[in-house]
Amino acid sequence: MRYISTRAEAPDLNFEEVLLSGLARDGGLYLPQSWPTFTFDQIKEMRGKSYQEIAFDVMSPYACPDIPEDDFKQLINKAYSSFRHDAIVPLAQLDNNEWILELFHGPTLAFKDVALQLLGHLFDYVLTKRGDKITIVGATSGDTGSAAIDCVQGRACADIFMLHPKGRVSDVQRRQMTTVIKDNVHNIAIEGDFDDCQALVKALFNDLDFRDKINLSAVNSINWARVMAQIVYYFTSAVALGAPNRKVSFSVPTGNFGDVYAGYIAKQMGLPIDQLVVATNVNDILSRTLNAGEYKVGETIQTISPSMDIQVSSNFERLLFNIYEGDGAAIRNLMENLKQSGLFVIQPPQLARAKEAFDALRVSEEETRKMIASVFTSSGQLIDPHTAVGIEAARAKWSDKKTPMISLSTAHPAKFPDAVEEVTGQHPELPAHMADLFERDEKFDILPNNLDALKKYILENL
Ligand SMILES: *Cc1c(COP(=O)(O)O)cnc(C)c1O
Repeated sequence: MRYISTRAEAPDLNFEEVLLSGLARDGGLYLPQSWPTFTFDQIKEMRGKSYQEIAFDVMSPYACPDIPEDDFKQLINKAYSSFRHDAIVPLAQLDNNEWILELFHGPTLAFKDVALQLLGHLFDYVLTKRGDKITIVGATSGDTGSAAIDCVQGRACADIFMLHPKGRVSDVQRRQMTTVIKDNVHNIAIEGDFDDCQALVKALFNDLDFRDKINLSAVNSINWARVMAQIVYYFTSAVALGAPNRKVSFSVPTGNFGDVYAGYIAKQMGLPIDQLVVATNVNDILSRTLNAGEYKVGETIQTISPSMDIQVSSNFERLLFNIYEGDGAAIRNLMENLKQSGLFVIQPPQLARAKEAFDALRVSEEETRKMIASVFTSSGQLIDPHTAVGIEAARAKWSDKKTPMISLSTAHPAKFPDAVEEVTGQHPELPAHMADLFERDEKFDILPNNLDALKKYILENL
């Protein structure tokens, strides 16, 4: 498979190169040149297979033969051996025809482990083969950070510098990052919000000299391999509920648009998906854009679902490339408008394509709290605030109750204990492997929101 940039001015790459490079050199994001597709019968054959087997079926057209098939199978098996549930991502029933997909059974309790555990093994495999080393710099609104650190900690192939917005991630989220005391792990609290952190990382990538000097790589969902790994659970869950003989719908709590975009790809690959619901919190740039066509950056507001407190949604550029049918010049234009004036407008024919593919809803803090309480009352289950945002949007947008609705449950409730306890009176317990999280030592440095200070820090700490 060849990979092309959304802005059409960077060289095409193969899978290994795209894995290591992250952002394209023209500022765009990489996408496969075409979508591999599955027939009805091929999807039917996935029934009864394990998560790991379906993962190989879904991802091998993207990764193989760049990665030889047998090696890729082994990497998949290793990656998912760190999960605490045999089904890797089990479904739990909420109500008639209504389900949640528990994506939080990995080491750091959020769905990001599903992709990043695989990424860690892929990096190790490819870099060992090449005798090479990378520097990973990432920005996190909370969960990417710990999942990325977990996947490369102690590995000789990579140094990782993780930026989080100072004071704006939960205590559990921060401690999951800052208590990993390893020579190759560097935590930085930036005096700013998540979008500032993300802008710093993007600026590093766009400084091509610096980028080459430190062999910079990305683990944010701008990295294609992350999006790829997330396509898998759309297939496993849909097949478990009767696909391809019947359609299923998904609701996805969304920030950077990586997770729900993976669902869009699953549909392009032939999975019969009826609705894809984009659920946002009050940081609603995506629901506003999908409903009205104007992508306009606002102020980031702190919420009880902090992993979605995002105003600049990187992966949306991938969808733009699809709805503009691969017109790189049009994408460069939109992105230039965004840079100049903080907004762009999607033209009516392209907006119609986006609306055809997605429903979108903004969910308030009040509705989120009520949903956590209501699910606890009706089923006894504790859900985290991100999951609650997804369920609220699912119920509001669900057009055909005969089609199963799956809300993606993106984090374990113990990751956001304060909000959960406030509304249910129950304190969600951390799983055993993290029970002593609050007794562990922390290590991190604080930096201003300044690119030169960050560069200096990286060079000094490599
Ligand atoms: C990252 C994250 C999201 C948002 O996922 P995107 O791919 O950025 O849209 C939602 N919920 C949780 C718990 C997360 O960590």
